[in-house]
Amino acid sequence: MFCVKKNPQYTFDSFLAVKDTLDDLDNPFLVEVLSNLSKEDWGEMHRRLQPFANKLSTSWRATVNEIARPENHPKLRQYDAYNRRIDRIVRPAEALKLTEEVFGEGLFSMKQLTYEGIMKRYLLHGNGEAGITCPVACTDGLIELIEAFYEEVPNEVKEIHTHAKEGIDGNFAIGAQFMSEIQGGSNIPANLLEAVPMDTHYLLYGNKFFCSAVHADYSVVTAKIEGTENIAVFVVPSYLPGDKEKELRNGYRINRLKWKLGTSELPSGEIDYEGAVAYRIGPEDRGVALAVGIVLTRSRLDIGFASAAFVMRAAREAKLYARFRHVFDRTIDGFPMAAAQLEELEGAAKRMTATAFHLYKMFLEQDDYDELQQFALRELILLQKIYAAKEAVDHLRLAISLFGGHGAIEDFSAIPRLFRDSLVNELWEGPRNVLLTQIYRDLFQLRKTVPIETVLETMFPHLSLIDVTQYTSRIEAIMGINIMEAPTPFNKMAAMNWESLWEELFLSFQQAVTKPFEEQPILREEILNNL
Ligand SMILES: Cc1cc2nc3c(=O)[nH]c(=O)nc-3n(C[C@H](O)[C@H](O)[C@H](O)COP(=O)(O)OP(=O)(O)OC[C@H]3O[C@@H](n4cnc5c(N)ncnc54)[C@H](O)[C@@H]3O)c2cc1C
Repeated sequence: MFCVKKNPQYTFDSFLAVKDTLDDLDNPFLVEVLSNLSKEDWGEMHRRLQPFANKLSTSWRATVNEIARPENHPKLRQYDAYNRRIDRIVRPAEALKLTEEVFGEGLFSMKQLTYEGIMKRYLLHGNGEAGITCPVACTDGLIELIEAFYEEVPNEVKEIHTHAKEGIDGNFAIGAQFMSEIQGGSNIPANLLEAVPMDTHYLLYGNKFFCSAVHADYSVVTAKIEGTENIAVFVVPSYLPGDKEKELRNGYRINRLKWKLGTSELPSGEIDYEGAVAYRIGPEDRGVALAVGIVLTRSRLDIGFASAAFVMRAAREAKLYARFRHVFDRTIDGFPMAAAQLEELEGAAKRMTATAFHLYKMFLEQDDYDELQQFALRELILLQKIYAAKEAVDHLRLAISLFGGHGAIEDFSAIPRLFRDSLVNELWEGPRNVLLTQIYRDLFQLRKTVPIETVLETMFPHLSLIDVTQYTSRIEAIMGINIMEAPTPFNKMAAMNWESLWEELFLSFQQAVTKPFEEQPILREEILNNL
């Protein structure tokens, strides 16, 4: 009789035993970076981070893997049985519980130590659950936007602020940000969504085409004030008081959820506003500046953390697997090519992580900076958004290849999910070309009053004088060609050089930032020896 021969001896158990108990905080490099940042607070900080990391690396990780399965992706239920429009976002019970637990940590509360919230957010990103991390980043922007105008906002908005920052009766609000419209996401000044002024608030009419975290309680929305060319920024409750229980949305409909390449656990909707109540924040004509300066800047910093945490997780798990898995006569990491690639991965995880925290520290300290230093920081945040998101994609693809065929299996490791999400990180909050063009415009303007050498010295204090001189002449040469005009053979070449020049500069910045910590490994040798 025909019988199928299996290989009953082969098991992944020893790999899984180590991988599934791997604590994200058991990482000498990361601990060095975090302790250096929190200085004398480190003892207390570690005491607070450890239980968070424990949950994250065990029960939350298992939950996230479950939520990521296609059958658990969010769905939209537009009507109830009585023909009433409800636009309910249906997410699995695990996702609702996880959301409650993570937001319940009060990541933005006054009770947090400086850097505690951001360290926890970095750790959260390692799990790659955009259904949680995207609204966390948006809530950060929501809170900061309201705080910038706290004294002048109406009581309804003050209440929203409390709900998001400190929670109300233990319930913490979830934020979102809706700026992109169908005719162009990069071009916020071209927004067509209309805001009609009423006595104490506005009513919104029109469409927003990319609305992630559409399950949120409140969103930050940009819109044009009726009868003007002014774009203002608004806070929009998803439900007016008393309406949430009835599932009666605040004057808007969710037309559909998008089917996306990545961030599949995150519901991203398309919305029609039909008179939604909205509260304007800040001056009528400063919506774009506020949306970019306060809200998008925070989301861009968050992408630096996400990219770093994705690569850190992939690098650690790839190291484990490469030590566990035998191919031909040895383990994967016994081959020079793989060993070099693992080193590359580890180096990238370190650079990206150290830089994300370094820039965040600068961001918190910027009030003490002069104008030029603040300019330098703004450009560095843009550079991180561009290049961290870009290199995350490359490194995650490399990590996948180190796992061989198992690298492509969604429930073998989280790396395929991180890879798909990293592609999205390149696109939202400003695609690469938009941001590179922004840097070009910023420098073009500034060099009228400040020499490029001085700008480079401020942005990259680690550079030698020779390097500064060389990069200055390369930048001046490109500016002489003008990459903003219609394409020609010359300015196409110059545009390519513009991209690679900043990539080189940002890489050297990352290397300088990482130097003090680079000797520390991301995985203890004893852990590898347990395989
Ligand atoms: C999964 C996902 C979720 C999203 N969620 C949200 C959300 O919650 N809220 C929200 O507001 N948006 C969201 N977005 C939208 C995202 O922010 C936009 O897609 C992005 O800003 C780009 O806009 P666009 O798609 O209209 O591209 P376009 O603006 O049409 O750009 C297309 C191309 O042209 C290039 N380009 C555009 N302008 C310039 C320029 N001046 N110079 C050089 N090149 C240029 C871009 O780099 C890009 O390559 C989401 C996007 C994705 C993928």
